[in-house]
Amino acid sequence: MKYKKTALWIFLAAGSVGLVFIFGAVPGKSVVPPQAEIVQPAPEQTGQKPELPQQEPESAEPESGPAAPAPEMASAHFEMAEYRCDCAGLCDGWPARMNPVLLERIEALREYYGLPVVITSGVRCEGRNTEVGGVAWSFHKRGDAADLYCPGVAVGDLAQTAKDLGMNVLPYYASGYIHVEV
Ligand SMILES: [Zn+2]
Ligand SMILES: [Zn+2]
Repeated sequence: MKYKKTALWIFLAAGSVGLVFIFGAVPGKSVVPPQAEIVQPAPEQTGQKPELPQQEPESAEPESGPAAPAPEMASAHFEMAEYRCDCAGLCDGWPARMNPVLLERIEALREYYGLPVVITSGVRCEGRNTEVGGVAWSFHKRGDAADLYCPGVAVGDLAQTAKDLGMNVLPYYASGYIHVEV
């Protein structure tokens, strides 16, 4: 019995050594090839469709990022583009820069009422000024004038406030807007 038990333990020990040898060697070889087989097709599959849609939104965000802070502000509530010459290609939109003093006072007018103020005309090139029937010496051509209205505020009321804020005012009651200049 003892001999058989000893032989059995030797057999088991030898077998376990063999198993260790087999699993120690085979797993090392058998694990690598599956990884290589799995890794290779994975990039091919993901590279064709899943990765492309992911790259497009990522590249779209940086594009919209710089575009957001791009608009130049004339003042707190007005974009400079609102004062742009609105001719149909007679100029590049900016025959003159808007007078900063005028921009500040229009902003003050807007803040006085706490209501949106709509700029209907800012700077004008010679051609646009002629189109709209502006006088030859129009302050619009120098960026020193603007036409505007404030929905909900009467022209006379708006004109008086604009005067109080230091602007020269020409009210157009029939058309519903005022011309302001500095
Ligand atoms: Zn123009
Ligand atoms: Zn005007």
